[in-house]
Amino acid sequence: GQVVVRSSEPTGIMYRSINQSLVDTEKLLALLSQPTDINDREDAMSLVVNDGEIEFDNVSFSYDPRTTALNGVSFKVPKGSSVALVGESGAGKSTILRLLYRFYDLPQGGGRILIDGQDIRNVTQKSLRAAIGVVPQDCVLFNSSIGYNIGYGKFGSTPEEIEQAAKSAQMHERIVTFPDGYDTTVGERGVRLSGGEKQRVAIARTLLKNPPILLLDEATSALDSHTEKDIQKALQNLVAGRSSLSIAHRLSTIASADLILVLKDGQIVEQGSHTELLALGGVFASMWAEQISASGEAPTPAGASDPL
Ligand code: ATP
Repeated sequence: GQVVVRSSEPTGIMYRSINQSLVDTEKLLALLSQPTDINDREDAMSLVVNDGEIEFDNVSFSYDPRTTALNGVSFKVPKGSSVALVGESGAGKSTILRLLYRFYDLPQGGGRILIDGQDIRNVTQKSLRAAIGVVPQDCVLFNSSIGYNIGYGKFGSTPEEIEQAAKSAQMHERIVTFPDGYDTTVGERGVRLSGGEKQRVAIARTLLKNPPILLLDEATSALDSHTEKDIQKALQNLVAGRSSLSIAHRLSTIASADLILVLKDGQIVEQGSHTELLALGGVFASMWAEQISASGEAPTPAGASDPL
């Protein structure tokens, strides 16, 4: 159906800002059952990002008064570092990303979320979301050219910038095989992209947006090993120098994370590097063992199979 927007703003701008936030939040929004009604404070300031350090300070949150989604969660994502969230379904991983993106405000007594020392409840949503790039599991494509779809990450991006982003996202070589290169229509009425290709489009868009903070939701579906390698390389280019918080489903992909947080029932039950968590022999180690026996994969990263 058609969406009618009534606004005193020029329609073009309005349309673009709605569309932009749809692009950024599609997956996270898909997870929400109700619309958000977060309001900026009257005296809200613009977020000022210097280092891009994120802090969750004793965060507790419930969607529903009878249950708790997060319970006393504290951690830091230091400047430019990568933190991965793991845990079974319902453990609270997506809630952490949604709260940082401010789909919900923390209630009084529910702790604080800070970016470079600023409580995100005190800054404008616009400035907060401008600082955060989201790479969802499944990126929505417009029925338009692949170039347009990538260029969407930054208003007024040049063909050179789009090509550079596509290269870093390991997508350029695929695009040049399309009948009209960057002008080829993709989406339902054009060339259909695979899940892995769509994720690389999302990575390219985010490279153009160039945010200091990243939220990543790894695809749950298994990808072939070639695609997996391309995506890992694209992600490496994206996360370099940025503070990132990612939800990981395949534990092998986060062996290089600076810190892994293991969540269970809304609490952090273990934390450390991949090697440290395996040595701990707890929740993470058993999840790891389970994934290996399910996939039949050799447990190569971090020397997990090393008898010493
Ligand atoms: P998954 O891996 O399945 O995505 P997750 O670790 O991301 O799980 P969350 O989505 O953060 O888990 O959910 C944490 C808890 O909050 C769960 O108990 C879940 O049922 C509940 N929850 C999540 N979203 C909502 C919502 N919109 N309304 C009510 N409860 C919710």
